[in-house]
Amino acid sequence: KKVIIALDGHSSCGKSTTAKRVAAKLGYAFIDTGAMYRAVSLYFHENHVTLTNPKEVEKALADIHISFQFNEHRGASDVYLNGLNVEEEIRKMYISEMVSETSAITLVRKAMVAQQQQMAKHRGVVMDGRDIGSKVFPDAEVKVFMTADPVIRAERRQKELLDKGELVDLDEIIDNLKKRDILDSTRAEGPLVQAEDAVLMDTSFMTLEEQVNFVLQLHQN
Ligand code: C5P
Repeated sequence: KKVIIALDGHSSCGKSTTAKRVAAKLGYAFIDTGAMYRAVSLYFHENHVTLTNPKEVEKALADIHISFQFNEHRGASDVYLNGLNVEEEIRKMYISEMVSETSAITLVRKAMVAQQQQMAKHRGVVMDGRDIGSKVFPDAEVKVFMTADPVIRAERRQKELLDKGELVDLDEIIDNLKKRDILDSTRAEGPLVQAEDAVLMDTSFMTLEEQVNFVLQLHQN
């Protein structure tokens, strides 16, 4: 049976870490949809695409191929943009600064949503994002909406960046998370909203194991 688990919520609540673990436990594919919007942002940046020009955006989208490949070394999937591993690059702060603008473009969302729906055609998936339970898979069997205290989210994010060698001021991160929350929640197309039938999970004081078990429990029921 191909089950879809939708994990939506704010940035840096632990969505992808939880999703990865749940997918591994169940033998499902893990799809990080944020990575797809980040890869599109990287392409736009590198090719100087004018975001307000639909013709340029459309042409760019036709040239963008995103895929995921399991990385044995990391024990997780890396994202590829036109055959190139961009996993490291897309996590950098300058991409975080532009990704909400990219993902608000209707043409971009249409293209990504279509790809995401395709990816779950033949297998069980755990998909993390913003609009998975509300838009991409309204019929997903399991829907969780994740949130956490903004300062705790920022501290987690800071540690992640530091682990990769990028030192960013906590205030700058809080500022970026807040801006993205607002942009993500207020855009016309595919806004970040808790689906009516999604279960809320506040991860502020939950361990990773507790988060994973919470989702697995819902999956069992
Ligand atoms: O999950 P992550 O923080 O990497 O996502 C980066 C950005 O991609 C989000 O801030 C949001 O603007 C966008 N996004 C989206 N829809 C999704 C997943 C991510 O708009 N399903």
